Amino acid sequence: MALDQYAPIVGESVIDELRLIARKLGGRVVRNVNSTAIGGGVAEILNRMVPLLRELGIDARWDVIKGGERFYAVTKKIHNALHGAAQDFTAEDRDVFLDTQKTNAAAMDLGADVMFIHDPQPAGLIHFRKKNGGRWIWRCHIDLSAPQSDVWEFLKPTVEKYDVSVFSAPAFSQSLPIPQVLISPSIDPLSDKNRDLEESEVSAICDRLDIPRDKPLVTQVSRFDYLKDPVGVIEAFKMVKDHVDARLLLVGGSADDDPEGAKVLAEVRERAAGDPDIQVLCLPPTCNIEINAIQRASDIILQKSIKEGFGLTVSEALWKAKPVIAGAVGGIPLQIAHKYSGILTRSVEGTAYWLKQLLQSPDFARKLGENGREHVRENFLLTRHLRDYLLMFLSLDHPGKDLIYLQ
Ligand code: UDP
Repeated sequence: MALDQYAPIVGESVIDELRLIARKLGGRVVRNVNSTAIGGGVAEILNRMVPLLRELGIDARWDVIKGGERFYAVTKKIHNALHGAAQDFTAEDRDVFLDTQKTNAAAMDLGADVMFIHDPQPAGLIHFRKKNGGRWIWRCHIDLSAPQSDVWEFLKPTVEKYDVSVFSAPAFSQSLPIPQVLISPSIDPLSDKNRDLEESEVSAICDRLDIPRDKPLVTQVSRFDYLKDPVGVIEAFKMVKDHVDARLLLVGGSADDDPEGAKVLAEVRERAAGDPDIQVLCLPPTCNIEINAIQRASDIILQKSIKEGFGLTVSEALWKAKPVIAGAVGGIPLQIAHKYSGILTRSVEGTAYWLKQLLQSPDFARKLGENGREHVRENFLLTRHLRDYLLMFLSLDHPGKDLIYLQ
């Protein structure tokens, strides 16, 4: 059984407990809905979560809503605005958003014991909830700590129709009349993205992708998105170049529901042009082993986000015991305790300072990575996430109860 393979990593008792809780939920239909099957953190998690839920006896399913170019332009605006980046949100945008919910609701099966809706894109499906249907959960993966008010006011009445909302970090919770649950995301230690690789595999992949390993390698893996600040990464690297000899690698790809990527990539390419130590690599979103190998080949991983829901790339790098320098935003401080399990920064200058420090102090850098790996083992592996979801599904059967007996 696939679940047993996690026992050597997290311990037998964790797996036993998952089975115990899942027995109470046997056969329950849980229908996940999001807006892309590939690309980005939500798809990354669902790809691994759904099969394991099924192995545990939950009838987990996964549907993806369909929308046109205009819909994704609007949902990207909503995404950016909820992250606090100013957007012009028009009456027409609202109509496009609501019309697409209606079209999808007509084409989808909304029957399930639990409708598990991820992020704002499909949130409006709740308006088409069946009478006497199952419970509806809204799972918010983004940083909602300082949303643009008109956009949040537009979305809020929709969210209030749900039975439960789930946020990734305490700072993201909003004043809502429905219960809020805090569940942080996770990475799968056995996926191609994260499983152990032989050094020979890492080398072969770097050779194939033309990634030189003659100097220390500093890497950021992220969609090309302004909020991941790839240009800030290049600026920080350029500040330290005269002091340390290293290479910078920016790896990115697109997500079906992110229309801004091409523009950001063009800016990144322009900023990187002319510097042979800066490499920009575009990979299809299915290149999981490649990302794994690149993270392993790197000496330092950056995640210089300006806004971030969680930042799976941080846990992915820490799990590989890599020193990570990351923006102190969103869910990243949950993953990094500054100067213990990584480095938190707030500016280009701060990133540059720590980049130089870590490149010059490899022992300290190694210790940060080692501590980070243990922190991820304890908190951010898929088995913990599964347990949280199972307990939440169970709690839907016992509204208002503080104690549920499993035996
Ligand atoms: N990712 C990838 N290829 C890329 C860029 C990102 O496979 O070119 C993966 C990355 O490894 C991580 C996920 O996409 O698993 C991104 O999740 P994260 O939470 O970091 O950011 P999001 O894209 O959801 O904002």
